[in-house]
Amino acid sequence: MFLGVIVLTVTAVIAVFAFLYITNYKQNILASCVSHDGSETESHYHAQLTIEQDGEKVKIPANIGIVKECIHPLHTHNTTGLVHVQHPPGLGFTLGDFFDVQGIVLKDDQIGSIQTKDGYSIDVTVDGVQVKSGFQNILLKDREKIDIKITSLAK
Ligand SMILES: [Zn+2]
Ligand SMILES: [Zn+2]
Repeated sequence: MFLGVIVLTVTAVIAVFAFLYITNYKQNILASCVSHDGSETESHYHAQLTIEQDGEKVKIPANIGIVKECIHPLHTHNTTGLVHVQHPPGLGFTLGDFFDVQGIVLKDDQIGSIQTKDGYSIDVTVDGVQVKSGFQNILLKDREKIDIKITSLAK
């Protein structure tokens, strides 16, 4: 009985440490600067993000993730919604990571100040296929098209 509790506790502690280690590792990578001179050793690819609110395109800012000379692994160069992704092999970034970089909340029922409880619907498709839940966990992939449609229901 006691042994069982100890084993469970040890397992839980290891799980928490493993989770924190991976989270920290990702945060450290996200905070690092990447090179842009063609000598980069990490993967470098692009996903296309489009956000529409009631049929109007929402402008995605240029230079997200670029602070002075430091270009962070998730960034934009212009307002086309092309998300540049650079990371070491074996690691991936999600749509949630990209919103985190901007300090914008992304959840299934919320994007920034827009919340479904206030009468909006948020629909997300990846390459035309609807994503039902877990928007923040969508893995960014090369040439992937992510479309977010926000609709005001109260009219
Ligand atoms: Zn790029
Ligand atoms: Zn770039």
